[in-house]
Amino acid sequence: MKYTGPVCRLCRREGEKLYLKGARCESPKCPITKGRPAPGQHGLTSASSKKSEYAKQMRAKQKAKRIFTLTERVFSNYYQKAENKEGVTGNELLKMLEKRFDNVLYRAGIASSRKQARQLISHGLCKLNSRIVDIPSVQVRVGDKFEIKDSRKQVTILKEASAQKPTAPRWMKVDLKNLSGEVVAEPEKDDFEKTIESQYIIEYYSK
Ligand code: SF4
Repeated sequence: MKYTGPVCRLCRREGEKLYLKGARCESPKCPITKGRPAPGQHGLTSASSKKSEYAKQMRAKQKAKRIFTLTERVFSNYYQKAENKEGVTGNELLKMLEKRFDNVLYRAGIASSRKQARQLISHGLCKLNSRIVDIPSVQVRVGDKFEIKDSRKQVTILKEASAQKPTAPRWMKVDLKNLSGEVVAEPEKDDFEKTIESQYIIEYYSK
């Protein structure tokens, strides 16, 4: 089921920044920066309490889902696909998540959050290889070129993007001034979201 509550609550639940709100995440207004505890009655104790193996597996899966803003169904589909691939399941899972079109725009620094990237794509403002693509989950391939099409939108997006001063990952070339870029390599282990513990996710789904 899609979560519709306050997104900062998700970070507080995980006890760390998941970077779900763009520029606010780097500002002193971020509740994690302010040191606010996890929500709920046991918020103050949950972060420090000893977790069972199952709890660690569950939290790892939940965190990954939240970082990429995916529903349980979509996330478990990614897992099934990763399991059917020849490589290491955890790496295959994280690679597919990295290669989502919305994540590419976020990593490139064109969108300030994955959520914003998804909105831009869904509103038909993004092109992949010169064609409008309005499906955020599309998997990019090496050689794919991406850009924002609407010049009016560009002004606002660029303002936010330049405020972030992002460092594009090595697997893409980015021209932030023109809000465009190209996928030049496959994302590898060092490029994956560092805080996701894929081993726990595998253990969770292997039960
Ligand atoms: Fe998470 Fe960003 Fe909210 Fe901070 S501001 S709690 S990082 S979503």
